[in-house]
Amino acid sequence: MKRDAPLPIKAETWELIRTLVAFDTTSRGSNLGLIEWVRDWLRARGVEARLTYDATEAKANLFATIGGGTKPGIVLSGHTDVVPVDGQPWDTDPFEATIRDDRIYGRGSADMKSFIAAALAATPRFQAADLQTPVHFALSYDEEVGCIGVRNLLADLARNGIAPGGCIVGEPTSMQPVIAHKGKRAYKCCFHGREAHSALTPQGVNAIEFAARLVVHVRGIADRMRATEPRDDGFDVPFTTLQTGVIKGGTAGNIVPRECELHFEFRYLPGIDPDALEREIKGYAEHVLLPEMRAVDPATAITFETKAEIPGLDMAEQDRLTDLAKALSRNASVSKVAYATEGGLFQRAGIPAIICGPGSIEQAHKPNEFIALEQVALCEAFIERLAASLER
Ligand SMILES: [Zn+2]
Repeated sequence: MKRDAPLPIKAETWELIRTLVAFDTTSRGSNLGLIEWVRDWLRARGVEARLTYDATEAKANLFATIGGGTKPGIVLSGHTDVVPVDGQPWDTDPFEATIRDDRIYGRGSADMKSFIAAALAATPRFQAADLQTPVHFALSYDEEVGCIGVRNLLADLARNGIAPGGCIVGEPTSMQPVIAHKGKRAYKCCFHGREAHSALTPQGVNAIEFAARLVVHVRGIADRMRATEPRDDGFDVPFTTLQTGVIKGGTAGNIVPRECELHFEFRYLPGIDPDALEREIKGYAEHVLLPEMRAVDPATAITFETKAEIPGLDMAEQDRLTDLAKALSRNASVSKVAYATEGGLFQRAGIPAIICGPGSIEQAHKPNEFIALEQVALCEAFIERLAASLER
């Protein structure tokens, strides 16, 4: 970690980044090491945190509040889990934050432990301020696998009558305020047909062929969305998209296949009803495909399982929280992004949300993930301005 020039960020922020990155919080494992460390770190500074656990008690969210005041607070929200490094060619140890060329390398450096570190590092600043509006830290588990954990956290807040007035989700946006993202639904669909010798196809129910018709149906909806449905040019891809990403089925060329499994998803614009899309697809399966299958064998079936359900985020351009994010980031413009975040879930829970955090999504999830030190410094300045604004 030799570096000639002094760090352009607070020593405390850098120490926190190093500590947080060193916890391997890949979503498949536990995040408790990190969460309990942060809980103890806050407790040592006189801040008590609430933890909400998953069913296995191997994972937890953390929620903490600084400052009294009677106004609804502002949440600084980050997920603690990271995506796997398996099979990725890293030049440094992904779980040891390493400074090179004015960048911090490490898994989670951009997505999104540096934001969490910068927020925590401001704890003494928030405590010293005469906050009229409290600040909350919300750290979640299992964001990368479908924004799972934060649902527990939001339910806990609702049960306990804690109603923050706004949320800043520090996903990497290069510190540009993002006011909208698409919603996501993902499904696994299984076709259970009937095996037969391939010379006797009428006696079988070919699961692959029926599944293929559903794939074509999904694609047809995608084409219709692109051609005729509403557009929002604020998004890179300005329409709702659908696609099938996985298909598995069959065992041999001379057997009518009994099983076929599909994974498809859609990414929908604000204003599109995802339930209507779901009904359209399931309706085709139930009313067109299934009767044909059952005419051959009543024991055949089609099953759907929802694998992900993340509401979109859709904040108004003219809004108090939007204005606050613009002022804090010194950015007059706002944008919309394709990827889903916890922001949509905060908004659905009645807490307006904005995405604004350091680093670029371009570096997230890749080998040699990094964040520019300059980005961390911009985030520190953002949080300092937040503290100052909440004193008033
Ligand atoms: Zn993220």
